[in-house]
Amino acid sequence: MGGGALADKRRVLVIGGGFSGILAARDLSHDFHVTVVDCKEFFEYTPGILRAYVKPAHFDALSFTLAPVLEKHVGVKFIWGEAKNVDYEANTVSVKQMFSKEIEKVGFDYLIVAAGCNFNFLHKWGESLWFPTIYEDARPHSNWSHIDERFMEGRRRHIMEEYNKIKALNDKSASILVAGAGFIGVEWITELQHFFPKLDLTIIDFLPNCLGPLPKDAQAYCEKYMSSKNIKMHWGIKYEPNSPEFWKKIGLPNGADETYIAWVSRPPTTSCPRTRCPTRARAAAAGS
Ligand SMILES: Cc1cc2nc3c(=O)[nH]c(=O)nc-3n(C[C@H](O)[C@H](O)[C@H](O)COP(=O)(O)OP(=O)(O)OC[C@H]3O[C@@H](n4cnc5c(N)ncnc54)[C@H](O)[C@@H]3O)c2cc1C
Repeated sequence: MGGGALADKRRVLVIGGGFSGILAARDLSHDFHVTVVDCKEFFEYTPGILRAYVKPAHFDALSFTLAPVLEKHVGVKFIWGEAKNVDYEANTVSVKQMFSKEIEKVGFDYLIVAAGCNFNFLHKWGESLWFPTIYEDARPHSNWSHIDERFMEGRRRHIMEEYNKIKALNDKSASILVAGAGFIGVEWITELQHFFPKLDLTIIDFLPNCLGPLPKDAQAYCEKYMSSKNIKMHWGIKYEPNSPEFWKKIGLPNGADETYIAWVSRPPTTSCPRTRCPTRARAAAAGS
């Protein structure tokens, strides 16, 4: 095989092996030399993660190791490492591979940033249960810094720990507050209720109803369901954990035993430190 078509192929580097990154890699694999870089060794089906915390065995159905799937089935190269910086002049990305102390430069003709976004604006790094904590610089600030979620086993361990915590709360009929009644908050509180029916559950939202942008019928259906399960709901109220008035207003004068933040807003720039990445899932083509 001479220089020909293969040698002429342009290089595409994809940052992120989530939904967007894998889809882009698969679609481009025939016409380009594609490399995917991801901080973690595995894919996680985020929409199913809430169920995993209340039924840990479910995690197996949500995850797979990226290397064999990308390299053997999709036919692209996989680098397990963190993209640290993009040099748009030199068309290189600085990548710290998982088991290397050095940062190396990976060249590209086209770059796709599919690094996702983080949740929880109350945490410096946007950390939440819903996504693994993956950045090297974020790990020391993590609420679960004893676990390395870049490994599939680390993620599994975190899920088990949270599950055991909720189980213990259920055993003592503890009170739980879910702040944010978008689709994540509503799904989370109903999962908690279904698997741990002894919990005393309350959900709040700043908006005048749950499931803000969804159709009225969906809101009414969910409200009726939550009401039938004795989940207490308070709409049009701001989350103010330091205010005794706030807790009184929602019927928890002594506070909640556990609070979960479930609102869905976070500028995505923390997803790709120091790259000033564009918004999530937006493909950024650089170079020629
Ligand atoms: C609880 C929950 C439920 C949801 N349910 C639904 C639903 O039912 N339907 C729906 O359509 N959407 C749902 N979503 C939203 C959906 O999960 C996201 O829109 C989707 O994950 C975005 O895909 P993505 O590929 O853009 O980013 P992500 O899935 O976040 O993937 C980004 C990837 O980039 C990697 N990465 C990030 N930064 C770097 C870096 N610097 N270097 C290397 N790798 C990096 C990450 O490890 C990750 O693998 C839900 C979200 C949550 C949190």
